[in-house]
Amino acid sequence: MATGPDLHDTRPAAAGTPADRAGSEAGSVALGAVIFGGSASGLWILNRLVRAGHSALLIEADRLGQGQTAACQGIIHGGLKYTLDGRLSASAKAIRSMPSVWRQCLAGERAPALTDGVLRAPYCHLWHSGRVLGRLGLVGARRGLRVTPVPLRHEDRPPALADVRGEVCRLDEQVVSPRRLIANLARPLANRLLRVEPDAVGIERRADGDVEIVLDPDRSAAAGALPLVIEARVVVLAAGTGNAALRARFGLSTDLMQVRSVQMLLARGDLPVLNGHCIEGAAALVTITSDRDAAGRTVWQIGGGVSEDHIDLDSGAFIRRGRRIVEAALGGRSLAGTEWAAYRADKAEVTTAGGHRPADAFARIDGRVITAWPTKLALVPRLAERVLALAAPLLPEPRGERPRASLLERQRRGWPAPALAPPPWEREVPWTAAA
Ligand SMILES: Cc1cc2nc3c(=O)[nH]c(=O)nc-3n(C[C@H](O)[C@H](O)[C@H](O)COP(=O)(O)OP(=O)(O)OC[C@H]3O[C@@H](n4cnc5c(N)ncnc54)[C@H](O)[C@@H]3O)c2cc1C
Repeated sequence: MATGPDLHDTRPAAAGTPADRAGSEAGSVALGAVIFGGSASGLWILNRLVRAGHSALLIEADRLGQGQTAACQGIIHGGLKYTLDGRLSASAKAIRSMPSVWRQCLAGERAPALTDGVLRAPYCHLWHSGRVLGRLGLVGARRGLRVTPVPLRHEDRPPALADVRGEVCRLDEQVVSPRRLIANLARPLANRLLRVEPDAVGIERRADGDVEIVLDPDRSAAAGALPLVIEARVVVLAAGTGNAALRARFGLSTDLMQVRSVQMLLARGDLPVLNGHCIEGAAALVTITSDRDAAGRTVWQIGGGVSEDHIDLDSGAFIRRGRRIVEAALGGRSLAGTEWAAYRADKAEVTTAGGHRPADAFARIDGRVITAWPTKLALVPRLAERVLALAAPLLPEPRGERPRASLLERQRRGWPAPALAPPPWEREVPWTAAA
């Protein structure tokens, strides 16, 4: 990836500026864009801005990928899930071109290159107790979906679905590893990523409209960081659930954001690899994705309807109920000897009437502040294009030079790079003993 221009000015701050309040030795840099939030959206947007030749920097409050991306299952939906009722919904229309964009990135044929272990599975499976799946494929094709289910012969089924009585299909929706996605996105941008706690960030509006972001080491645990004032033409809020608090700090309304909570299941042990959805009626009853934990065990991450329908259960009751649902979805397969855990996550989106999932990625500009939510991981590339289109008219002409690494290092002023967030199964989730 071309690195493009970067921080292009550093000088002591003038007396009386907010930088003074951050410390007497404040440095100052002028930038095109500052992005808040170092997860899938923020990193993809940073990549897009830099590739377009703009100067940009990203501030992450905690760890890269923290939040929804670390919690997510990484399925690059192609829209079938949103046509299960036989209609081509607005969601399906928005998302149907996404698998081909991701496929090109995963193959290194398009930027950002996601070639280092990001692809977990090239396709999913889809199964049902009845015989509706073949028909679904026809509906999807007629409705213009580019990814539709292909019925499998019994001998071509994955071992995990051997006991399923109904039809099993292959669906060419890729599954990515969220953690490795974040690592791939972050690596070429490493010198543009700063970890700064929200309390250490001061925000000032200047008379010319630019935003002044003051990083104050006295309010941070970062050892050796120096005060830094960043002048930004445009600010992008890509902080997931953190966007509401950030909008408040910019004097913007917080009711633009809705949060939908889910409770997810984890299972680990001697499990076969499985990625796919069990369909019931017009929805995914369970969605299972597989990975390996640090000890080499297969881990199933289980979402879909089960994660939305039992949000009020405590984790013990949820695990018992969820396990029964998963065993039934697998044709009565016993999951004895498996360990189970549960975790909760919040989905942050633009507010909709009725609190439903929005149909598309969302980006809106208020003055110099762009607020962005992708709605789905799969829609992040689409979000990045929208943010670029909103930001570009306000940004200085792209400069063609490449930054000098030493200059970038100096201008960080000792602010550390953020670490990578762990996946849910490596976090402190209490596991039940195998039963
Ligand atoms: C359980 C679950 C499963 C999902 N499965 C799928 C799926 O299979 N396929 C799919 O397409 N989508 C899926 N999604 C949706 C998808 O995860 C999200 O749409 C996407 O990951 C959002 O990415 P993001 O970068 O916008 O936000 P997040 O990943 O939430 O990242 C926000 C970042 O901002 C940082 N931050 C917060 N506050 C501040 C601040 N004040 N300053 C600086 N940084 C801040 C956070 O630390 C974090 O790093 C799933 C979501 C969940 C919760």
